[in-house]
Amino acid sequence: MAVVKVDKLARSVAEGPSLMTGSNPTKNWMDVPVVFKPGNYAYTTKPEKLEYLDSQQGVSFPNARVWNPEDEDWKLPENWKEIIINGLAERLDKFRSLKIFMDCCVRCGACADKCHFFLGTGDPKNMPVLRAELLRSVYRQEFTLAGKLLGKMAGGREMTTAVIKEWFMYAYQCTECRRCSVFCPYGIDTAEITMMLRELLHLVGCGINWAMEPVANSNRTGNHMGLTPQAFKGNVEFLCEDIENLTGIHIEPSFNRKGAEILFITPSADVFAEPGLFTCMGYLLLFEAIGLDYTWSTYASEGGNFGLFTSNQMMKKLNAKMYAEAKRLGVKWILGGECGHMWRVIHQYMDTMNGPADFLEVPKSPITGTVFDNTASTKMVHISEFTADLIKQGKIKFDKSRNSHVKATWHDSCNTARGMGLLEEPRYILDNVVDNWVEMPENTIREKTFCCGSGTALNTDEIMELRMRAGLPRANAVRYVADKHAVNTLACVCAIDRATLTTLMNYWNPDVQVCGLSELVGNALIIEGEKRAENLDEGLRTMVF
Ligand code: SF4
Ligand code: SF4
Repeated sequence: MAVVKVDKLARSVAEGPSLMTGSNPTKNWMDVPVVFKPGNYAYTTKPEKLEYLDSQQGVSFPNARVWNPEDEDWKLPENWKEIIINGLAERLDKFRSLKIFMDCCVRCGACADKCHFFLGTGDPKNMPVLRAELLRSVYRQEFTLAGKLLGKMAGGREMTTAVIKEWFMYAYQCTECRRCSVFCPYGIDTAEITMMLRELLHLVGCGINWAMEPVANSNRTGNHMGLTPQAFKGNVEFLCEDIENLTGIHIEPSFNRKGAEILFITPSADVFAEPGLFTCMGYLLLFEAIGLDYTWSTYASEGGNFGLFTSNQMMKKLNAKMYAEAKRLGVKWILGGECGHMWRVIHQYMDTMNGPADFLEVPKSPITGTVFDNTASTKMVHISEFTADLIKQGKIKFDKSRNSHVKATWHDSCNTARGMGLLEEPRYILDNVVDNWVEMPENTIREKTFCCGSGTALNTDEIMELRMRAGLPRANAVRYVADKHAVNTLACVCAIDRATLTTLMNYWNPDVQVCGLSELVGNALIIEGEKRAENLDEGLRTMVF
């Protein structure tokens, strides 16, 4: 799918129909049907992927079929309305948050212009308040007295094929980033509403392949790319060879080693794709420098959890392998790499879904003796917490000049910033590993950070224009510091961000590269016995022959 030229898209965002530019829609939102056309929807799930998942214990993904959103007939099961309404009733009963979110919105509009999808598309249905209303209107009709008696007059509406089509369109134009919830006086979390919409759609076999194929791969092989244990191990060993060529440091990583003190789990993207590979080299160097007793697992070979974008049951099933593997290997605690949604799942759901992990110890750094009390329930420490502590206790040293090619800015990934409050540690690390870094404007960082625009399994090429639109608020803030401070590097701690922001920067700010924080750590780390190659002008990215 060809993507529109950057100047044309920028003009259309600035001048196009939008509440931001004063051009208000003329019809009631309920009377505006969605129109699917190439480029505005992600491809639907391949039936064989759904059939495979539906055959697995503990999860249900029925109604596999070939279908196309552009078709009039979506081949829904005969009793699809009943399935959806029953599914909603079940979830209202099970999730108190959903019931509260359905009832307590006062339509103040504080969230309306906070969503990057709304800012990038100008589509009123991408305002978080209206996105939620897509579900709330059916809830009112079916589950409230006013809705049952007064229907549309009370803001209710019947569940029709037009409504389910609308759900599919807008549940996949939300990255569950939770920026809107920061601004809502009632704390309504539209991401949770989107999660429910996606769950309900799955009940009738309506999902997207870019979510479900990684989920199927993760369930089958342990990681979303479907890498075999041999390939996973081989990739890490290749990285060690690269490290030896660049630094003279010889590393022999261990896999599935019983009795190791720590199990290390990171997104599989760190092991197989640029720029994550350089982040992974950073971890390997750091662990070697401090002599950490750790092991990789070829079973828990994925920290990311695409189940989060799919259903609660699927998220729980994929997450369970972390504790299962920690138990099998007999480690004391788990250290986790740079990822966004992995940490959202760990921080917000893991303990109650698959815990308590009483067989593990409260994490204690074997190098500094620091006890990470904040992880007492999950028993998992984020690599930035771990690294920041090493720096603070003077256990590692850096030569910042090795990052002299970098003028950085910091992207707070939605899930680590808003989902777990990881705000200070990355900044502290940056202070110590680079000479030059600057913040983006205040309303685009920390809790108010803007999403990359392609999270929650929207990182797929067929919706590239939509992604570039949704990523524009982030890209715009990067452009500001690039113009003002000659920033050339956007650093972050999220594997999806590293992939999506690279595409986003190539489009909006082609002179800005994207890197993981641990890559910058690896670049600057001073290690005993190292023999760094000369002219490592690009740090660990430098090609050495
Ligand atoms: S900010 Fe909260 S209460 Fe106000 S419209 Fe948005 S969701 Fe509703
Ligand atoms: S969670 Fe993020 S993407 Fe979804 S409606 Fe809120 S701001 Fe938009």
